[in-house]
Amino acid sequence: MLKDEINLLRKSFLPEENYYKDRYYRITENVNDVVYRLILPDFRYEYMSPQSKDLFGYEPEEFYYSPLLIRRVIHPDFFKYFIEHWRALLKGEAPEYYEIKIVKKDGEVRWIQQKNLVIKDDTGKTVAIEGIVTDITSRKQTDEALINSEAQKKAILNNLPHLAWLKDCDGKYLSVNESFANTVNKTAEEIIGRTDYEIYPYDIAQRYREEDLKIILTREQFFFEEQTSDLWYETFKAPIFDSSGDIIGITGISLEISKRKKNEDEIRDYSEKLAVQNVKLKLINDELKNAKEKAEESDKLKSAFLANMSHEIRTPMNAILGFATLIRNRILTGEKRREYIDLINSNCRQLLHIITDIIDISKIEAGQISIFNKNFLLNKVLNDLYLIFNNQIEVLRKPIELHLKNGLKNEESALFSDKVRLEQVLTNLLSNALKFTDKGKIEFGYTIDRRRDIVFFVKDTGIGISEDEQKIIFDRFRQVSISFNKMYGGTGLGLSISKGLAQKLGGKIWVESKVGKGSSFYLRVPYKPGIHIERPPQIDYNAEYNWDGKTILIAEDEDVNYNLLETILSPTKAKIIRAKTGEDTVECCYNNKKVDVVLMDMKMPDMNGFEATKKIKKRRKELPIIAQTAYAMSTDEENCMQIGCNDYIAKPIRIDDLLKKIEQFLNTAPSDQDVSREQTISPKAI
Ligand code: ADP
Repeated sequence: MLKDEINLLRKSFLPEENYYKDRYYRITENVNDVVYRLILPDFRYEYMSPQSKDLFGYEPEEFYYSPLLIRRVIHPDFFKYFIEHWRALLKGEAPEYYEIKIVKKDGEVRWIQQKNLVIKDDTGKTVAIEGIVTDITSRKQTDEALINSEAQKKAILNNLPHLAWLKDCDGKYLSVNESFANTVNKTAEEIIGRTDYEIYPYDIAQRYREEDLKIILTREQFFFEEQTSDLWYETFKAPIFDSSGDIIGITGISLEISKRKKNEDEIRDYSEKLAVQNVKLKLINDELKNAKEKAEESDKLKSAFLANMSHEIRTPMNAILGFATLIRNRILTGEKRREYIDLINSNCRQLLHIITDIIDISKIEAGQISIFNKNFLLNKVLNDLYLIFNNQIEVLRKPIELHLKNGLKNEESALFSDKVRLEQVLTNLLSNALKFTDKGKIEFGYTIDRRRDIVFFVKDTGIGISEDEQKIIFDRFRQVSISFNKMYGGTGLGLSISKGLAQKLGGKIWVESKVGKGSSFYLRVPYKPGIHIERPPQIDYNAEYNWDGKTILIAEDEDVNYNLLETILSPTKAKIIRAKTGEDTVECCYNNKKVDVVLMDMKMPDMNGFEATKKIKKRRKELPIIAQTAYAMSTDEENCMQIGCNDYIAKPIRIDDLLKKIEQFLNTAPSDQDVSREQTISPKAI
């Protein structure tokens, strides 16, 4: 009863619907938000403020007539949420406040915030929902932009391969990115608020602190390249200022550059190697340049040499041809004829000498010079040289004294060496001394020095050689000056041959000289004492040879050569037999036991002298065979001796030599080969 009365009473006080409308309208007409009142359970809008037109695009009346219109307004993405929320709201479980998206009548999407108040009657029954809807689109957009920009920054920083951080001035970390945290194996939370001393080993932390202090003090940015444990980092640090310009911290960004460093190191290594390579290439280049210059110079020298050589060959050739023609003249006196013959002879020797020199230098250059050591008496060689050169001085009528100083007694002077080559060098040196000295003295000989080497010397008081020229005279084709040498003649080969031979003999050759005072040439070779050899009985070179009853076999295919030999030998009364081939020679030796000596031409058709000698020696070992060759090579002698010849004579034959050699065999001269093979030295043509 009371209840009914109260309700009645209330009702009498309750205003009409329009009352609410008017009242709300007045309150809400000046606000931007939408205010509404929804009656439950009818779901009927009792009031919707006019701003619904702005916010939803619908007039309030549209909601009054069609309350379900709200379903259309809710953004599909939020519809489910909206329904659930309302269900919960009606149960009194949901928060009265939520934010959702709506779709306006014209399709525009907006964000709204809705605050609902659940209205209950006296019995506790929900009778209405009163709500305020606020447009929060612009706030939402700002939020979103904010969220997005923060997220972007975070995304950038965390996805950087760089380590990035922010520290305050005390060195405490304020912020770090993920790369930083991962590198030190900690979480960002574990790092923030700590200093480097709590994260890194002391020495590293100390270094970082010093860098930070440098930045704080200088207020400048710095780049550092530094190593932490095995890794290399490139770090950029900069101060952070507040609005008043005070430093409030330091920011840093660091990139691991170990790989780059390694590459840089490799590139540096490679560059260094390239630089070395470059230097080498430059050296090679220089060498090539030098070689080219040398080749050009050598080319020039060769041309000069050839011109000179042509001169050297033509001069004696001229003389030979000229005097050979003159000799034909019948009215020539015997004395004149002999004089011409002597001149032809000496010019021939000069030619021969040039040819021998050319062969020798070629062999030296080809490395084909061989050394044949044997026992011989050194003093005898030097004594002979003395006789020859003393004779030359007399012939040239030069006021020169010649002195010989032997370093050993005659009988102690046995040497084991290459006699022919030693003689050749000494002859060269003596010939030069004589050529370049007009007066004074020439002294030659040898000493045994403390190193047990033999040091030969040839000293003269001649024109001398300047220091510059001393450096080149041992080079092939070199003469001090071509024009100067026109005066003296010569091919410029003598000293280079001597140098090559000295090296082959295991020694060296050098010169000491002063221009205008004279020159001293030295040759040092190892001293190898030889076996003492008795001097053979002296042969009287001027003696008449009488080989009556003796038979000499001349193996010679060339008629000219045979005729010459026959002419030389016929005054000796020896019986001469001729064989024209190797086979004839062998047969003759086998069948004619009276043959006492064979003059064997080594170059014959069919069977040559070498073959023939071998065959003859098989049956008649004792039969003396003297080889004659036209090669004039030092190896010829050695080859002939090796196959069993008893002696050797080179063409063109020197008559004296030939007779001496035959005499040794016919008059039972000692069979000692070394002695029998003593050679007469032909001094260099002067
Ligand atoms: P050449 O056949 O021209 O003599 P060498 O090789 O024997 O050739 O000598 C080379 C050059 O050395 C000579 O041309 C000369 O200029 C110089 N020479 C050699 N020996 C002497 C010396 N005893 N005195 C002065 N100059 C010399």
